[in-house]
Amino acid sequence: RKRIAVMTSGGDAPGMNGAVRAVVRMTLQENCEAYAVMEGYQGLVEGGDWIKQMEWADVRGWLSEGGTLIGTARCQDFRERPGRLRAAKNMIEKGINGLVICGGDGSLTGADTFRKEWPSLLSQLASSKEITAAEQEEYKFLNIVGLVGSIDNDFADTDATIGCYSSLGRICEAVDYIDATAFSHQRAFVIEVMGRHCGWLALMAGVSTGADYVFIPENPPPEDWEAHMCDIIKNHRALGKRKTIVIVAEGAHDRDLNKISPTKVKDLLSGPLKLDTRITTLGHVQRGGQACAYDRQMSTLQGVEAVRAVLDAKPGDASHFISVVENKIVRKPLLEAVATTQAVAEAIENKDFDKAVSLRGDEFKE
Ligand code: ADP
Repeated sequence: RKRIAVMTSGGDAPGMNGAVRAVVRMTLQENCEAYAVMEGYQGLVEGGDWIKQMEWADVRGWLSEGGTLIGTARCQDFRERPGRLRAAKNMIEKGINGLVICGGDGSLTGADTFRKEWPSLLSQLASSKEITAAEQEEYKFLNIVGLVGSIDNDFADTDATIGCYSSLGRICEAVDYIDATAFSHQRAFVIEVMGRHCGWLALMAGVSTGADYVFIPENPPPEDWEAHMCDIIKNHRALGKRKTIVIVAEGAHDRDLNKISPTKVKDLLSGPLKLDTRITTLGHVQRGGQACAYDRQMSTLQGVEAVRAVLDAKPGDASHFISVVENKIVRKPLLEAVATTQAVAEAIENKDFDKAVSLRGDEFKE
């Protein structure tokens, strides 16, 4: 019988529990044994009780829960080969022959590294007699399938990561609250939102709330952004707008990669524009709370597809992740998506913003 383990890793995102629930139940449905790895890669590195067998009822009620109930962690050990060697040994010890990882860009990069290294990890374990030659043969193919769980929507080759729409909804709700008070006092608000190196949350929050100006990493503002922003906002005020909302992605910078901080923006609004300006950093409320309907649906359908992909995988096949493209759930090669995701980061580092925008998609243009 196949033993399929599921794990959540990296930043938590609403919908991760739905994904775990779907993977566990689909695994059981297919007559396989289900396992959960606690605390992300740390659980794989530690092994033993950190890898728990799961039954149908263990995930009851998980669909609507926010965060991740099996825990997640940022695991330094797994970044180094000795940590990955322990992880490989623990997986074999538990008889795990399929692994579904629900995580962000970092976690799926880690999964890709693990897979590439797997044959040499097995050789090392066999030569130090930690596994037998028969085990080395039996486990020679590491069957990993990715699910993209991240509020940032920062992963290539999928339209939406599990969690991004819950987070976007939360941000919009918060901006609506701020809008009401801003309008009343004719104030300006600079709102910092999450997203790490990705501007999707900031951009879509801006579109969804009718913000006056948005700063995102992929498409920084013009060189003279101070004047550009002030002109636009002055113009909006002249047209009778009583409130000003500027959204700053946490990774925002100018064309020379100098960080654009909310304080810098506030100083411009309250200085030259003389607006009564406040800063609101939304912080962790953006990650918390229940998953929205879309994320519940996506995590469930993608979790089911992830188990199917594990069961279909043949030795020698490339690893896949489950993506959603134009509302269809499809399997995509993990390697290419990881490479494209990294290419966006590199393009930004090299100040090639046209490339960053074209890799992310048209919505990141003007
Ligand atoms: P996210 O998955 O949300 O992007 P991180 O970037 O923190 O979050 O990655 C989560 C974990 O994945 C890290 O703590 C680390 O254990 C593992 N990881 C990330 N990048 C790599 C890598 N290049 N090689 C090995 N493991 C990695």
